[in-house]
Amino acid sequence: MSPPLSQPSHSQSCASSADDPLERVRAALFHRIGADGVYARTGLYEEVLQRLTAFVTRQRDPRAEVLRFPPVMSRSQLEKSGYLKSFPNLLGCVCALHGTEAEVRAAADSHETGGDWTSSLAPSDLVLSPAACYPVYPIVAGRGRLPRDGGIYDVAADCFRREPSRALDRLQSFRMREFVRIGTPEAIQAFREEWMGRAQRLAGELALPCELDVANDPFFGRVGQMMAVSQRQQALKFELLIPYYEGAKPTACMSFNCHRDHFGVTWGIESEDGTVAHTSCVAFGMDRLAVALFCVHGIELTRWPASARRALEL
Ligand code: AMP
Ligand code: ZN
Repeated sequence: MSPPLSQPSHSQSCASSADDPLERVRAALFHRIGADGVYARTGLYEEVLQRLTAFVTRQRDPRAEVLRFPPVMSRSQLEKSGYLKSFPNLLGCVCALHGTEAEVRAAADSHETGGDWTSSLAPSDLVLSPAACYPVYPIVAGRGRLPRDGGIYDVAADCFRREPSRALDRLQSFRMREFVRIGTPEAIQAFREEWMGRAQRLAGELALPCELDVANDPFFGRVGQMMAVSQRQQALKFELLIPYYEGAKPTACMSFNCHRDHFGVTWGIESEDGTVAHTSCVAFGMDRLAVALFCVHGIELTRWPASARRALEL
């Protein structure tokens, strides 16, 4: 993710329905389960996603600490991170029926008689994680000052963003993997730059056409538009864009985010010398990358280009 700066600036989207050049691919990968952007995934799709996951793991810095997060996170931690300022429209909050047994029963039973049980819901202390890296910053802050080299983390989570769509590249529930760097501004800069080059080489190994471009997060509202302009001017976000078919608007499949001292200040993360730490993350949109592989190479794995088969150990 990026800080309260995040989400895909992902402007593209492939049409759905009969004129969708990806319709055959869709049928081999997903089953509809009653809501847009939320799918049952086929064995074929999961096979590739697992292999892609292993491919990303092989790129991990050996010093990285591995953390896997659940699909929900602390609401107060996300509020403190500033998410509501930037993307209130994308956030999903876990709500539940609270109260006495009689109250919960009455609310639930009202459904049988055509009533609206959801009007009795109340928010819980959980939100659906909108990006994988948010929980890592408070964990690191709680350990005291960083070691001299700062820290590097390999994180992942099932993420949720409330952006219903029928497009194959715009899901509400999707998997995100991130390498997060915390340290001095110089270390952050070097990390992000190295990854922007590396990601393009990895796309090459996977035989995926790509380009890297400066980007902005889809900040909410009119104030958000100003934040987006400023983010671009400062080149705080780049994306790796992959067209799913010839002539398609490319899809943002990875992002390279510089948060500067946002999370360092928010959580009080200090470098070894006591200065505020800077942070950066490189995010792999695992589902978008997997869909890209199928769209570009087809659904017959044996016919994929040799370099992609090698990279994925197919
Ligand atoms: P972001 O924090 O917006 O940069 O997101 C990180 C990565 O997650 C993006 O580069 C995408 O590859 C992926 N991603 C973001 N939103 C979606 C979505 N709605 N559906 C699928 N993948 C997404
Ligand atoms: Zn992140």
